[in-house]
Amino acid sequence: MPAEDNALHTALLRLFDGNESMTNRALELMRPHQTQLLVSLIKESKLPAAPLSDTEIRIILGALSLIDSNNSKHFSGVGEREGRVHSRLVKERSFGFAHGIGRSGDLMEIQPKSLGSAILQRLTNRYALQALWACGIHKDAAKRALVLPCATGMAIMLALRALAKQFPGRKKVVWLRCDQKSALKAVGLAGLDLIVVENELSGVAVKTDMSNLRMAVDLHGPDNILCILSTTSCFAPRLPDDIVAIGVLCKSLNMAHLINNAYGLQSSKAVALINETVRVGARLDVFVQSTDKNFMVPVGGAIVAGPDGNLVDRIGMVYPGRASAAPVLDLFITLLGLGRDGLLSMLQQRKDTFKYLKQRLESDLPQGMRLLCTPGNDISMAIELSDHTTMLGSRLFHKCVSGARVVVPGQKVYEGDGVRIGSFGTHTEAYPCAYLNVASAVGQNREEIDRFMTTLVKALT
Ligand SMILES: *Cc1c(COP(=O)(O)O)cnc(C)c1O
Repeated sequence: MPAEDNALHTALLRLFDGNESMTNRALELMRPHQTQLLVSLIKESKLPAAPLSDTEIRIILGALSLIDSNNSKHFSGVGEREGRVHSRLVKERSFGFAHGIGRSGDLMEIQPKSLGSAILQRLTNRYALQALWACGIHKDAAKRALVLPCATGMAIMLALRALAKQFPGRKKVVWLRCDQKSALKAVGLAGLDLIVVENELSGVAVKTDMSNLRMAVDLHGPDNILCILSTTSCFAPRLPDDIVAIGVLCKSLNMAHLINNAYGLQSSKAVALINETVRVGARLDVFVQSTDKNFMVPVGGAIVAGPDGNLVDRIGMVYPGRASAAPVLDLFITLLGLGRDGLLSMLQQRKDTFKYLKQRLESDLPQGMRLLCTPGNDISMAIELSDHTTMLGSRLFHKCVSGARVVVPGQKVYEGDGVRIGSFGTHTEAYPCAYLNVASAVGQNREEIDRFMTTLVKALT
């Protein structure tokens, strides 16, 4: 084998976790149409610093999809799942990848009919891990990352099931109240018992109440508790949970610690908290983040990562059946189209727009309105509303403002999954005022903020 081929063989073997026969088969299938670009991507197995052009990405996708059996001219399918696609539109939309990812019972198992899809998936997992690092996550906190073909709530459910296999007999999940339904429904769907821990007020901010948490753990018994489920990215005035203290508690009492980091990759504070938890040796098993919220792809994917690569793998193993490759494909295309440099500037731009939005809110709000001070939350902000402004939500919505939410204490109740949570939306039973939530997430630009501010000021005066 020439040296050039040897390096490719080694790289592919690494991507395929040492599976020699699949590696050789993939190399053989690749050879007739392998491009230099694809070969070097596989050899590097690293997210390039510079963005790739759409044309380059198309060439890579074309070369990879030709490896899958459904795109081979010499193919005769006599099975019940041959990756046939009727519509040309659908074929285009999926770039010829029709076999999905995984095999029944394991997302990371290689399907011999679709080695191109397998390479795509494995490169994407690597890129996802490197994207996490580029966002500032320390290598000790994320040793492996797995892109799951479902959004955050479902990914949390899978992570819970993987943990439950590790701790048979433990049924309770202690959840630090964060009023968003995905995580709490995930606990119910996983067949586990949800225990809600109330937050405390600290000035106008809502934060983790460690003494409430300790009481709940004592009451239910650490030996019955599968994990503590905390949240790092949330709507102001709630702050990210004190995951360092929670991790210390989990470590001392041998309970797992699962973190919902939904849109936290773009938040320096959430990232710093995750790193600090691992740095001080506190417990962190897995953290889960959304692909759409952090990387601007359509809804449908999540990334699970953590310091224990085996646990990350086991999450892929609880997935029943084959899965859609679409969320993987979207992330692959997007990360290559951004490159590491593009990702870094996207994160920087978000920090700038957050600062700008905050500035505008501080200077332009009408008399009597105030921005609630929650410096621990660097994505979302809350503006105190007087009672007569609660119609504001629908007024803003009709002016095409999306994402601004009016929250009124005591208005909603969540009932389900064995719990009843009062004043749902405010993260605590006892928030003193109504408020408007706004956020700066990746992709937002100054013009949007300017338009929003004009609409808001008009609506309020
Ligand atoms: C978006 C979000 C989720 C996840 O929602 P999915 O639709 O399942 O991705 C979970 N928790 C919080 C705090 C969120 O903001």
